[in-house]
Amino acid sequence: MNEFKKVDERVVKELRRITSGASVIYEDKETLKNYSHDESGGEYYAHMPDVVVKVENADQISKILKFANAQHIPVTPRGAGSGLAGADVPLYGGIVLSVEKMNRIIEIDKNNLVAVVEPGVVTNDLCKKVADGGLYYAGYPMSVETSFIGGNVATNAGGSKVIKYGNTGHHVIGLEVVMADGQIVEFGGKRRKDSSGYDFIHLFVGSEGTLGVFSKIYLNLIPLPGKTVDLLAPFKDIETAISNVGRLMIESKTLPSAIEFIDGISVKLGSVYNNIKLPFQDEAGAYLLIQYEGRKKEEIEDLYEIGGKALMAGGAMDVFVADNRTNSEKLWRIRRNWLEGIKAFDPYAPTGDVVVPTDKIPQIMQYISEISTEYKVQIPVAGHAADGNVHPAPMKPEKISPLEWKDLSEEILDKIALKAASLGGAISGEHGVGFIKKDLLKKTKPDQYVFMKKIKDIFDPTGIMNPGKLY
Ligand SMILES: Cc1cc2nc3c(=O)[nH]c(=O)nc-3n(C[C@H](O)[C@H](O)[C@H](O)COP(=O)(O)OP(=O)(O)OC[C@H]3O[C@@H](n4cnc5c(N)ncnc54)[C@H](O)[C@@H]3O)c2cc1C
Repeated sequence: MNEFKKVDERVVKELRRITSGASVIYEDKETLKNYSHDESGGEYYAHMPDVVVKVENADQISKILKFANAQHIPVTPRGAGSGLAGADVPLYGGIVLSVEKMNRIIEIDKNNLVAVVEPGVVTNDLCKKVADGGLYYAGYPMSVETSFIGGNVATNAGGSKVIKYGNTGHHVIGLEVVMADGQIVEFGGKRRKDSSGYDFIHLFVGSEGTLGVFSKIYLNLIPLPGKTVDLLAPFKDIETAISNVGRLMIESKTLPSAIEFIDGISVKLGSVYNNIKLPFQDEAGAYLLIQYEGRKKEEIEDLYEIGGKALMAGGAMDVFVADNRTNSEKLWRIRRNWLEGIKAFDPYAPTGDVVVPTDKIPQIMQYISEISTEYKVQIPVAGHAADGNVHPAPMKPEKISPLEWKDLSEEILDKIALKAASLGGAISGEHGVGFIKKDLLKKTKPDQYVFMKKIKDIFDPTGIMNPGKLY
């Protein structure tokens, strides 16, 4: 099955003919290298593509897939390359199909509250554009300033706002998909309901480029809430911090738009990177960062008073309120730049991504702490407390070589992922499986895996779509 045809001059000539030449990169090793990896593990997880095609429309994608399917050439769809699971690494070489030029916001429909976009739109560009018109796109991964909407859909990206608004899949109401054989098919559209047949849209969500290429995406918008307030609460340890999550939501009688957590080591590293000092930084073992949204000043004042009281009753050392942009941005910078803060000290730190039922966060944190002691490795952790998504980032001890570290850090993260699954969680909450976690997928979801593979074989019988991912 994996005996693919090698890309040669004749293949490249055909790709140039399809795209009128300008967007095909071949033999330019330096440029091709940029498309050989995502943000997961640098050179150790990289693989060079034979050719990169920067497509401009669905028609070009269709012709390329028809051709690749007939010739049996692997095709790897690529968004912004910000992924953390190696999902867009072209493991078998072949064609990398980049959607970076397909970055048009086609329509913001204020009557239906729907945005229609091409897959290469940067997430934050859409957020800003719809906000200008009083609307809100609630998909918000921490990589919002770099990742593309298409990549978000293909990984079912999460982020800090999942507790209130759901992950990316919740916002997708329609997709135009170019299937592996080149056929262009519309699923859903501007309609909000559809009980006629299988829900294909949510089969494509999280499919990591293995079933087809999204060429147009219909997204649900909502009215912009208007005002926000952020609360920062330091705690002596993570158990006390997490014990607040459920109660906080019940007592404030509302869903916050975020309840994030960040541990003490991460705050210290982030504080150096961002040049910001948080209160209680030397004493606190963990922080919660909570965001409420409301229409009026009085409404959010009421929310932060109730929330603040609940947090103090739940063991917070203090509660700090940021109700203006500058102070809010300071708090969020530490959380949003969590990974960069760690990478500034250790460029080899990989990022884990597991999910557990929220009340199991202390158990998984305890396990991470045991692993940290057993392997004598520092493991800073942050995550989305409200939805149980935990990101451990083991840091390379000085004496271990980067290559040895690749194997050791994989072993550490695999153990944590398996523990999460045993607690009723899963091996990925939002970054996806890619090729790095594919063995774990099979191990933890053996029954589902069989059905997933059958579906893959129906949609992509020749196996050209992003081979080596998920399976
Ligand atoms: C600093 C940092 C913070 C991050 N924070 C978060 C976070 O909070 N939440 C979160 O979920 N993720 C986060 N990520 C991970 C990453 O940003 C997401 O996985 C994102 O959704 C990937 O989008 P992308 O455009 O970069 O896609 P890529 O990484 O290029 O590709 C990801 C997958 O999507 C597929 N794909 C891309 N475009 C298409 C298309 N048009 N059709 C079909 N398949 C396609 C690719 O084949 C691949 O399988 C973070 C990453 C970094 C570096």
